[in-house]
Amino acid sequence: MRLLVLPGDGIGTEITEATLRVLHATDEVFRLGLEFETAEIGLASLAEHGTTLPQRVVERIPQVDGVILGPVSHYDYPSRDEGGINPSAELRVRFQLFANIRPCRSHPGLSVLRTPMDLVIVRENTEGFYSDRNMYAGSGEFMPDPDLALSVRKVSAGASARVARAAFELARRRRRKVTAVHKANVLKLSDGLFLREVRRVAAEYPAVELEELIVDATAALLVRQPERFDVIVTTNMFGDILSDAACELSGSLGLGGSINAGHDTCVAQAQHGSAPDIAGRNIANPASLILSAAMLLEWRGNRDGVPALVDAAEAVTRAVDTVVADPATRTPDLGGALATDAFADAVASAVERLARKGATA
Ligand code: NAD
Repeated sequence: MRLLVLPGDGIGTEITEATLRVLHATDEVFRLGLEFETAEIGLASLAEHGTTLPQRVVERIPQVDGVILGPVSHYDYPSRDEGGINPSAELRVRFQLFANIRPCRSHPGLSVLRTPMDLVIVRENTEGFYSDRNMYAGSGEFMPDPDLALSVRKVSAGASARVARAAFELARRRRRKVTAVHKANVLKLSDGLFLREVRRVAAEYPAVELEELIVDATAALLVRQPERFDVIVTTNMFGDILSDAACELSGSLGLGGSINAGHDTCVAQAQHGSAPDIAGRNIANPASLILSAAMLLEWRGNRDGVPALVDAAEAVTRAVDTVVADPATRTPDLGGALATDAFADAVASAVERLARKGATA
């Protein structure tokens, strides 16, 4: 399995190095035959090649088995004409990575919730309010005059149906419940269309329960009754906001893995940004990217029928859980004192321990 690693900006280099440490250890134990190649994107690439996303990087993506994408400082990028392409948005559109899959499981001792949370948010990834990806040409955001700004929100039947299918497929393998989150009481046409497609797909999965919930009620219920949710499917911006809130409630945004998945391509990407305020200090928490990389192994394993990849992904996830459960092996964002590289070493050792235990069980 060949992986393309794009470290990105800010803490990107540190957390991708940490992730590779864990993947190398996992590869040794599970004999996955992982191969890695690294390419520069982001501000370093802009300085050297005049673009934050070189064409040769884009062309390489369909030739590899998965991508590990570090966070990017796209807020600081110049305009597209000046070489500032947001790699994250560009890859989602270019390779039709229509489902952003974000699991949130509560961590004892870190979660602020009264009852446990174990849910997955499946967020539509290619349209909605996101002006950098919702137009064929031009931008979905524009200013007719200096005191008036307009945003167009795009919801299509095709994109709603394909993300709904991803959610039902996932729910089928979990607790068999999908909650479709919307604001169709106000956005009757656009969220109405989204719901129409979700219901149509739901009819193909009679064993999976469909619940429909308005987004504001969902926000409250995530705090009050997190255990009621299994898989949440929703449009782009609702999913973006709810997944950060759910993840923080479950322990920390730094503990949320995330993949952007299409039919053939999968990009693992941390849920957080490039954290320029702590970059270069070896204190960033790499757990989100490590868990995202594990999700990529699982996605590829399920898609290609390779159980060792699924087993390896499970071991990495359990290893992260074990390490963050101990206050002595937490990074500063979780109240600990462990450095980024030391955290990665602790996770790598836990993977080895878990695999040995599994072999002797
Ligand atoms: P951020 O997520 O980078 O940081 C928010 C806060 O969380 C900061 O205090 C930061 O130090 C902390 N933090 C984030 N990740 C952490 C980690 N792994 N370990 C410890 N602490 C961590 O959000 P921001 O400051 O709003 O954005 C910074 C840049 O990142 C901007 O240019 C923004 O556009 C970009 N961004 C990129 C992505 C992405 O690449 N997917 C996502 C969000 C933001």
